[in-house]
Amino acid sequence: MNQPGNAPPADGIAGGGSREDASTQSPSRRDAPGAGDRRPDDLPGAEEEWRQRLGADRYAVLRDKATEPPFSGRLLDNKAAGTYACAGCGAQLFRSEDKFDSGTGWPSFTRSVEDKAVRNEADTTLGMERTEILCARCGGHLGHVFDDGPAPGGLRYCVNSLALDFAARDGAP
Ligand SMILES: [Zn+2]
Repeated sequence: MNQPGNAPPADGIAGGGSREDASTQSPSRRDAPGAGDRRPDDLPGAEEEWRQRLGADRYAVLRDKATEPPFSGRLLDNKAAGTYACAGCGAQLFRSEDKFDSGTGWPSFTRSVEDKAVRNEADTTLGMERTEILCARCGGHLGHVFDDGPAPGGLRYCVNSLALDFAARDGAP
């Protein structure tokens, strides 16, 4: 969006000195995939596309709200410095600084990178009253947030490893 309008000169227009202000439809919009910016347009529209993009395990969690078995996630014991992004859309969700060992068997965080990164929703399935957390960008299911976390915030974001991609910070050991 912040691209300066350096449109190429419209050469090849035959004749005419009269500068008709034809609403120039510049064909400069290339649909470059994987640009990685914040355009939800890059997200699949159909569930079948999601399934192909994510694979069965991640699809089950992110799109079908499944929960991975405790102590099964590859990010559970990850202590490297870096950022945890949504495995569905790449939005940054959590930081290593806010990760803690909750003993529950799922990666746990005291907070998200920013309030608007994660959306809360009431979840009354399984006969429990819980608060589901979803990626605010793509709506992917992440896990749940509980109020038994450590001080001072008192929150515990309980997240499936399968819903996350970890990126180590540059220069971090
Ligand atoms: Zn997402």
